Amino acid sequence: MIYDPSNIFARILRGEIPAHKIYEDADTLAFMDVMPQSNGHVLVIPKAPAVSLDDVDPQALAQLIRVVQKLAPKIRDAVGATGYRLAQFNGANAGQTVFHLHFHIIPMYAGVPLRPHTGKMGDQTEIKRHAETIRVAIGA
Ligand code: 5GP
Repeated sequence: MIYDPSNIFARILRGEIPAHKIYEDADTLAFMDVMPQSNGHVLVIPKAPAVSLDDVDPQALAQLIRVVQKLAPKIRDAVGATGYRLAQFNGANAGQTVFHLHFHIIPMYAGVPLRPHTGKMGDQTEIKRHAETIRVAIGA
């Protein structure tokens, strides 16, 4: 599949549409998912274009997963979760809906089932509040 620069995450990277950003460095951006499966659901993306795991440059992937490893426990602790799940889909039949590589960091709470993947828009005020809490915790 050829990378389409009009995908929604490319547009967030270009600043064309807003996102609740929680972390940014030269190669990586992390922001809140608008349809969170749990409170504090974050997406981590490389700035360099890649559709999926299939075409990402290995060095860029290594950099990306380092950031995921750094952020995930901080997000978990910031939002008062007790675990986290990572998800990463490759291809429409695997559930991928945005064709710019991303890792989901999904905080897990005891006894709380996840909401459906791309289910419905979250409460924007609540998402903004979670973003602020997470930003404080990671010192962003
Ligand atoms: P995928 O299905 O490709 O693994 O995940 C795409 C994710 O992006 C979904 O969890 C979906 O809720 C999220 N998403 C879709 N559109 C937007 C958007 O415009 N902004 C943000 N922040 N997240 C989005």
